[in-house]
Amino acid sequence: MADLTDYTAVKLLSLLQAGEVTSTELTKAYLDRIETCDQKIGSFLRADPEESLEHAAAMDRRRKAGEAPGPLAGLPVALKDNLCTRGQTTTCGSRMLKNFKPPYDATVVEKLREAGAVPLGKTNLDEFAMGGSTENSALGETRNPWNTNCIPGGSSGGAATCIASGMSPLSIGSDTGGSIRQPAAFCGVVGLKPTYGRVSRLGLVAFASSLDQIGPLARTAEDAALLLEVIAGHDARDSTSLDQTVPRYRSVLQQPLAGLKLGVVEEHFGEGLDAEVESAVRESIRVYQELGAKITPVSLPHSEYAIATYYVIAPCEASSNLARYDGVHYGYRTDENVLHATLKQQRAKLSAAGNEQALNDLDSPLVRMYRQTRAEGFGAEVKRRIMLGTYALSAGYYEAYYLKALKVRRLIRQDYDEAFRDVDLVIGPVTPTPAFPRGSKIDDPLAMYLGDLYTVSANLAGVPAISVPCGFSNAGLPIGLQLQGPPLSEDRLLQAAHWFQKETTWHQRRPALN
Ligand code: GLN
Repeated sequence: MADLTDYTAVKLLSLLQAGEVTSTELTKAYLDRIETCDQKIGSFLRADPEESLEHAAAMDRRRKAGEAPGPLAGLPVALKDNLCTRGQTTTCGSRMLKNFKPPYDATVVEKLREAGAVPLGKTNLDEFAMGGSTENSALGETRNPWNTNCIPGGSSGGAATCIASGMSPLSIGSDTGGSIRQPAAFCGVVGLKPTYGRVSRLGLVAFASSLDQIGPLARTAEDAALLLEVIAGHDARDSTSLDQTVPRYRSVLQQPLAGLKLGVVEEHFGEGLDAEVESAVRESIRVYQELGAKITPVSLPHSEYAIATYYVIAPCEASSNLARYDGVHYGYRTDENVLHATLKQQRAKLSAAGNEQALNDLDSPLVRMYRQTRAEGFGAEVKRRIMLGTYALSAGYYEAYYLKALKVRRLIRQDYDEAFRDVDLVIGPVTPTPAFPRGSKIDDPLAMYLGDLYTVSANLAGVPAISVPCGFSNAGLPIGLQLQGPPLSEDRLLQAAHWFQKETTWHQRRPALN
């Protein structure tokens, strides 16, 4: 048999169902792959082979006993490390949560368990999912499997690389402004950000609650459909989750595309778009034409404000969400012995100098503990976002920044409504360029933010969007194609991506890792 880690999840499932392979064999194959490749790539922050194998063995027993152990029974799935797993560290790539063990499972994790999936480990991410390169993780480095000198994208860098390098057939990521689609594009895999509310966020550590959404990463649209079917659906414990039935995504895939109306987003082919990315995307549009799609230009006129809008709203929400990390409720707390010793020294110095005023102005030990904990627990980018957000929400600036951004957000949403009156889906690039060298943007936050040019609008509007491999640069780096649709059009997006993959072979290439 060929290398198991080379197969799609759908193929593996059929092998499991036919009894041609056991979950234990499969899980071992992936664990072996992790063992040999992950030193080079750094997808996983935590893997627990023993635990994975226990789950696999349980699935094998149930299958042997003639039970129907669920739609993913025996298939390994990797989880981004901002999804709560009961009793197991959930770090968000932060020093703040380095040792945090949640007392409950995220709804998505529960659903995967019920479906019989085998948890493979927790994958690396930018700290609290803030970033586009995974370089903001405080706990590990992740490299692009196609060129280990390049970044894998982010924030779901671990989730994308483990698929691209054959260390997991399926993984779960989260997308607030592109964090599933962008690393999927940079690593040559499929990534879907569902409609806001399609997948429960309960147990997803919050970054920007009105934008965050959980979604699947896989090699093919068909595999992503398999996974989405399991994780989607209403959850009474998440008030923003949509009370809508979950379609049988996989059965919709086979329906032909003829007559599909695709809108080419004019604004996504302007300044800043790399020529190789542009030509790969234009070539993909031609593929759709051949498949019988009708191509028309569409306009999303407020696109140019998307980055500015997102980088006000997301930090505002982050500054509020991250206020909970105070050294009391969760995670890291500064060393209090050191804290008290410094305070004592400072007091002694000030009273020796007779500086009564400064003595009175000293913060209380509690306030110092908060401040010191946050100074040590958060990395630079997270602090930058907290400061930006706090500033934009403060009295006098609230109207000028936050409120204004909310208004522009509405206009962006209306652009989509308008476009979807004429077309079924819109098509364009995922990222302006292919993956860039490690370290090249880390000191230039604005340059990093501009990489989110084409992805943040879907989050601001709440619409679903998918990234599909559509080519390679001359340097051998993958390029992604983005399709976006109206709310709850995941079936359509997956179907369109599926037919594209039937016509193309980009997703079949593998990085040379050995
Ligand atoms: N790159 C974007 C940011 O830094 C998006 C991150 C995400 O989707 N989690 O905010």
